[in-house]
Amino acid sequence: MKFNSAAGSFSRRDFVRAAALATAYGFSLEPARAAVRELKISRTTQTHSVCPYCAVGCSVIIHTLGDKARNIQPTVVHIEGDPESPVNRGTLCSKGISLKEFVVNERRLTRPLYRAPGASEWTAISWDEAFEKMARRMKDTRDRTFEEKDSQGRTVNRLTSVALIGGCTDTNEINYLLGKFRFALGILSYENQSRL
Ligand code: SF4
Repeated sequence: MKFNSAAGSFSRRDFVRAAALATAYGFSLEPARAAVRELKISRTTQTHSVCPYCAVGCSVIIHTLGDKARNIQPTVVHIEGDPESPVNRGTLCSKGISLKEFVVNERRLTRPLYRAPGASEWTAISWDEAFEKMARRMKDTRDRTFEEKDSQGRTVNRLTSVALIGGCTDTNEINYLLGKFRFALGILSYENQSRL
């Protein structure tokens, strides 16, 4: 078994070997596992959220370190299933259990990117610019394609050139507002990840 205390490394394989030895000699590692977990989350704040990966919508608790201290960048140190959720009762599948790597990841996209028509490269733009571009395109498309009457002269007031899709982490309030938004514009096509 290799344990480099200076580097603090203790591989998964080492852990499995230690567990096998402990079991062989009649020791239980449960208290040690519980203590490690307790240590990891002892000074964190907890935020309740929903796993974004699939339509099951499992509830999670996000443990963040340092978000109450000044001049310290908050860091997510642990994410686990919410035991009080009737959906997943504290469990997470293999995708959900890896959520921390999704949040704390240098490859994570944190700002809007824009690729101009014909361009091959993406350019980082501000959120204001992104909203402005989206609003402009939606307005222009609606002005161009909104149908007041169908081919038989019946009033339809519909916009079939734009569609909306919602995600499983959308709250009831967001979905209510999305409904208002699409009816206001006349959008007929609306789908939600929760159904997929
Ligand atoms: S933990 Fe797994 S099953 Fe639950 S929402 Fe995430 S991906 Fe879906």
